[in-house]
Amino acid sequence: MNRVYSLENLRAGEVFDLLIIGGGATGLGVAVDAAARGYTVALLERGDFAGGTSSRSTKLVHGGVRYLRQGDIKLVRTALRERGLLVRNAPHLVRDLDFVIPAYGLTDLPFYGLGLKLYDALAGPLSLGPSRILSRTETLEHLLNIEPAGLRGGVLYHDAQFDDARLAVTLALTANDHGAVLLNHAEVLEFTRENGRINGVLARDRITGGDLSVRARCVINATGVYVDALRTLEAPAAAPLVSVSQGAHLVLPRSFLPGASALMVPKTGDGRVLFAIPWRDRVLVGTTDTARPAPEAEPRALAWECAFLLDHARRYLAEAPSAGDVLSVFAGQRPLVRGKPGTETKSLSRDHAISIGPGGLLTVTGGKWTTYRAMAEEIVDLAAQVTGLPPKPCPTADLPLRASIPIRPGSEPLHRRLPYFEAEVRRAAREEAAQTVEDVLSRRTRCLLLDAQAASACAPRVAAILAEELGQNEAWIAAQTAAFQTLAAGYLIPAG
Ligand SMILES: Cc1cc2nc3c(=O)[nH]c(=O)nc-3n(C[C@H](O)[C@H](O)[C@H](O)COP(=O)(O)OP(=O)(O)OC[C@H]3O[C@@H](n4cnc5c(N)ncnc54)[C@H](O)[C@@H]3O)c2cc1C
Repeated sequence: MNRVYSLENLRAGEVFDLLIIGGGATGLGVAVDAAARGYTVALLERGDFAGGTSSRSTKLVHGGVRYLRQGDIKLVRTALRERGLLVRNAPHLVRDLDFVIPAYGLTDLPFYGLGLKLYDALAGPLSLGPSRILSRTETLEHLLNIEPAGLRGGVLYHDAQFDDARLAVTLALTANDHGAVLLNHAEVLEFTRENGRINGVLARDRITGGDLSVRARCVINATGVYVDALRTLEAPAAAPLVSVSQGAHLVLPRSFLPGASALMVPKTGDGRVLFAIPWRDRVLVGTTDTARPAPEAEPRALAWECAFLLDHARRYLAEAPSAGDVLSVFAGQRPLVRGKPGTETKSLSRDHAISIGPGGLLTVTGGKWTTYRAMAEEIVDLAAQVTGLPPKPCPTADLPLRASIPIRPGSEPLHRRLPYFEAEVRRAAREEAAQTVEDVLSRRTRCLLLDAQAASACAPRVAAILAEELGQNEAWIAAQTAAFQTLAAGYLIPAG
């Protein structure tokens, strides 16, 4: 995937079948689906691929045990099917993970044991393995640092884990392999119309500053928490479709959860679930559900969210973490389909919504990373129907996603605390459309999430390598380094 070719292709004046706005899970999923069916596809992303919510998730491909408790059987069944398909189609990115619910109360074992049998049954033939009750000794073996006082046993079940930003880049590469033209750092500013119908967009290339006009038979709004901004661009009186809900995560050293299993706390103080998950030799602890008044491009974890997560980690972990142990803090914002006024965001459904505006803009929002493929299938079917494109079957249930090419040995490590090499920076620039230090350290690699201070320390070297690859000068290196180091400071745990 080469950004220069993408720009040339977009400037050639082709009228695409589909133009997708937004390069997160939803938009990239639609791009893969439509391109694999044989439609012509363009996608414009304002920042980087997965730069919004899609790189800030809990990184679970899961049915959602919590949604089962809420009685949302349809969503859980769909998500479990999608989980099975994704494990099959992207085995290099998605892996089976054991989750253990520790039982301290008298009724915990039968209650969660039974619920998880239903979870197993809903997965059907795509199950990752049966759940089972663990004795106290087995629970202590699976969760080596779990608080032993009062522990009666546990329930083990299977779900899957992935790297969200890497899956996003893989989807972009897969769509590109099937002929889609994708451009990151390109912001849609306006719609163009013919007889009142939207027939394209005007966009700004944020790398070169140039303007861009792209035409299409159908324009799809997949901008996550920003869908309402584009809907009001189409029709100023459009009623809002999404509520914004923030979730924060802490990243801790792996020593706080050694062993291969994840810890699942089924009910926190505010009635949510909480996970402590081994991920890339660290532990992710999350998440929260905090209603926010408006979307933010770079959401910050609030001090109370960090305190809440640390407090719960301390309750369940025998060797308890303190603020000084936190390597990184990140937050993301869920685009939740609005409920009745006054509904708490944690009670809102995680299902998706599709709407068609008066100018023909197709909007899709909500859902989960796990269900991106099913959402894409539905939206491309609908796009073909409303646009009068010839119907074509959806092949993505059996479509393998682009495999990663291993990095050749011998390259310099980026930092002694980070598992990445300089060769990965060059590859990100040459093959994965990385344009900035942030693209590389936050999403092509996950340095920023794994250790914000170490990521900050590598920024000058990464900027210098990128400058060689992209033909940039010293001033660019200085500006990129400064911008990234300011960003990384926001991933340190807030004081207080
Ligand atoms: C804290 C948290 C944890 C989560 N954990 C999980 C999990 O473990 N498993 C799971 O399945 N799901 C999880 N989710 C849900 C999942 O992450 C989201 O459903 C999904 O990432 C949403 O993707 P999206 O493409 O709709 O939005 P986004 O990823 O936000 O993508 C929208 C894109 O549109 C772009 N855009 C906006 N305006 C414009 C414009 N004018 N021009 C061009 N581009 C534009 C933005 O830059 C953005 O990149 C979690 C969500 C959160 C917040």
